[in-house]
Amino acid sequence: MILRDKLESFGTTIFTVMSALAQKHNAINLSQGFPDFDPDPLLLEIARKYFSSSFQQYAPMPGCIELRETVSDIIYNCYKRKVNPETEITITAGATQAIYTAIASFVDRGDEVIIFEPAYDCYAPAVIVNGGVPVYSELKYPDFKIDWNEVKDKITSKTKMIIINSPHNPTGTTLSREDLLQLQEITRKTNIIVLSDEVYEHIIFDNQEHQSVLRFDELFQRSIMVSSFGKTIHTTGWKIGYLVAPEPLMKIIRKVHQYLVFAVNHPLQKTIAEYLNNPQNYLSLKKFYQDKRDYFLSLLNTSYFKPLSTQGTYFILLDYSKLSFNQDTKFVIELVEKYKIAAVPMSVFYHTKKDYHLLRFCFAKKNETLEKAAQIIKTLKN
Ligand code: PMP
Ligand code: GLN
Repeated sequence: MILRDKLESFGTTIFTVMSALAQKHNAINLSQGFPDFDPDPLLLEIARKYFSSSFQQYAPMPGCIELRETVSDIIYNCYKRKVNPETEITITAGATQAIYTAIASFVDRGDEVIIFEPAYDCYAPAVIVNGGVPVYSELKYPDFKIDWNEVKDKITSKTKMIIINSPHNPTGTTLSREDLLQLQEITRKTNIIVLSDEVYEHIIFDNQEHQSVLRFDELFQRSIMVSSFGKTIHTTGWKIGYLVAPEPLMKIIRKVHQYLVFAVNHPLQKTIAEYLNNPQNYLSLKKFYQDKRDYFLSLLNTSYFKPLSTQGTYFILLDYSKLSFNQDTKFVIELVEKYKIAAVPMSVFYHTKKDYHLLRFCFAKKNETLEKAAQIIKTLKN
């Protein structure tokens, strides 16, 4: 039997690989992005209530209306856009399914999709499985800014989609208002769809405002916004997220959504709807993670690792070039085996495996975990 592996050039995700290595070597795991602390006890209390309720059967296909209404309120509070919960919001099984659904809904054989690298790992495989062709544009090191002239040059008659991600995993950079205006300008009078991964929308630092595609009237007409409650309420294991798009796009998206997953965990949708009715429960996130970033940075200040600036997400890139000439994929193994600390090598986020001697560390951790990690990191000398 001859089998064709559509994702032949891809292996197991780096997050799975590094978390398994962390476990094997009993290392502190700052690799895969997830909190090592519990969510708000109130959230868990609400969840217990709904798991004992009568909402144990299928939720409505596009999501519980209460949760869609809550999302609509969040969007109005944050971006001043009125989004119709009936027709413009769909609840998904996490952002990964949301992204896959959005890509599967629009990308056909031979369609080109512009992806900025370094890129979160699930974009290119979803494009390839659907017969599309990833067209890569590099974020310019060391600031990781988009070169919009380069993007313009990469747009062809086959360009179906441009995928953006802000705040950005793995670099922690954010897109500015100017960036979004440029994107609005270069996609004007085209049929290009913008897929905007905004899962870290509430984790943004130093008094910046998150520049969602939802803030821009014209750009929103061609955009699909993706978010994830996993990041916002510290529940990555619940796998609930959402898509927001204007009605004509959402109609097409829901056709795929209904055959891919149909509906999402019912009691947890009810739980999140109730919990996030209090805006404090998402507005407090900025300060919470900014404090963690600053604490981790203060702990690292005498280390040989050089931190790059992080303006959002719960990741920070550390440059280890003062410590080793080894490739990042090799150095990260040494770190986990010898020093018992797990991180993610940045080169895996490039299809070319470009290596800038950077490792990604997740600081969504208890302060005591960050302290233990920093103690180890500071023992590394050249
Ligand atoms: N996009 C980005 C940028 C992410 O970092 C992640 C995972 N943390 C996702 C999408 C997927 O989110 P989810 O766990 O809700 O599928
Ligand atoms: N998004 C998380 C990260 O970047 C991991 C998600 C996953 O393991 N698929 O680390």
